[in-house]
Amino acid sequence: MATRTVFIAGGGYAGAGIAAKLAALDARRSFNAVILDPSEFHVVKTRLHQIAVEPERDMLIRIPIRTLADFARADFINAAVEEVDFNNRRIFANGSGYDWDRLVLATGAEPNYFAIPGAAENSENILSYEAARRCGLRIKSLGMNKRAASMKRVAVCGAGLLGVEFAAQLRQRYGPKKCDIAIIEKQDRIIAASQCGDAQRDYISAFFKRENIKALTGTTISKLSPGRVWLEEGKHIDCDLTVWCGGIKRTGIGTTASGGIAVDPTLICREHENVFGAGDSALVSSPLPNANSLTAQRAIYHADIAAKNIIRSATGLRARAARYKPKGELISLGDFDAVGVVSGVAFYGPACAAAKKANDLKYLSTLFGTAMNTRILMKDLVSK
Ligand SMILES: Cc1cc2nc3c(=O)[nH]c(=O)nc-3n(C[C@H](O)[C@H](O)[C@H](O)COP(=O)(O)OP(=O)(O)OC[C@H]3O[C@@H](n4cnc5c(N)ncnc54)[C@H](O)[C@@H]3O)c2cc1C
Repeated sequence: MATRTVFIAGGGYAGAGIAAKLAALDARRSFNAVILDPSEFHVVKTRLHQIAVEPERDMLIRIPIRTLADFARADFINAAVEEVDFNNRRIFANGSGYDWDRLVLATGAEPNYFAIPGAAENSENILSYEAARRCGLRIKSLGMNKRAASMKRVAVCGAGLLGVEFAAQLRQRYGPKKCDIAIIEKQDRIIAASQCGDAQRDYISAFFKRENIKALTGTTISKLSPGRVWLEEGKHIDCDLTVWCGGIKRTGIGTTASGGIAVDPTLICREHENVFGAGDSALVSSPLPNANSLTAQRAIYHADIAAKNIIRSATGLRARAARYKPKGELISLGDFDAVGVVSGVAFYGPACAAAKKANDLKYLSTLFGTAMNTRILMKDLVSK
């Protein structure tokens, strides 16, 4: 059988996961995978709030995609997909065109500013490695680590998982005498109901109270200007830094008006043959409640389903449908505290923080196939 080429746009949780799964499952080597990504690195995004506070803490947050591609017997092209010609099965990147037999679009998500005036220009965000590092450098430049530093004010826009994890990490690094933290949220509660139960929300609220993090729920942001967050009715909050954690949206080249790719539950694009969507950029037509939550958990699950369906597509077998059901969510409150529920069991405090860290390590090990591979990789990274 002739080898078919699978182009994978995006080397994140979904894209890198698909390449790794294909390598593990494609015993006949009927596919040659090629990852395209404008970044040289796969980013462990679930830890980006850490470098957004302390930019030097980037150990094992970035892994060269080339290394991942080597483990997956895949090729890597360090370029952004600029255009897709679905009819002629060609993609364009870096001024060159490439033919594909299967195409996966897994280009992730980007900040959603909901057209709020000045939001993009007057805030930092923590959604990419570069953005999080820039935020971390801005925080460092406020000089809060200096003994004689005056109190600085940081406004966090959005009290979803991102905003809560970032605010807690910031508080761990800088105490209330150095850093005043206000977290502003349009909804009447912190964290979406799909990610957090009432008991966990109460735990976070108590943490905020204890740590003097002001949560302004039910508060709508109308505009951002330099050093100022404008609220409805002309009220405002002055601050030294504004960090946008207010929302994310599907990104990249796709088939939907907003940029993502619309796929059916098998992760196959209905409009174009042999095109798959996975991870944050995929809009799945499914009645399941969490079918479209933008999480790493879902992207990893998609990687498994998409890789299997790519292989099934070559053998004439029917594609399987994704039935994503989150196992739960662990929300970190700094390095030593966390809260969450996994498989119906609630976790609180240091044990939960340790479980969250173990999750990150488990993710790294699955990425490289085996625990042995991970040990080799870690040795390799540490020795550089
Ligand atoms: C601070 C933070 C904390 C988080 N915590 C959690 C958590 O606790 N649990 C959880 O489940 N989720 C969490 N998430 C969400 C999770 O990180 C995302 O849902 C996940 O990264 C989605 O994976 P993905 O593969 O779809 O996209 P990504 O991981 O974003 O990868 C997309 C890739 O596509 C590349 N790309 C972009 N444009 C192009 C293009 N045109 N051509 C080629 N490549 C392109 C990008 O460079 C990137 O490498 C968190 C996110 C952040 C930022």
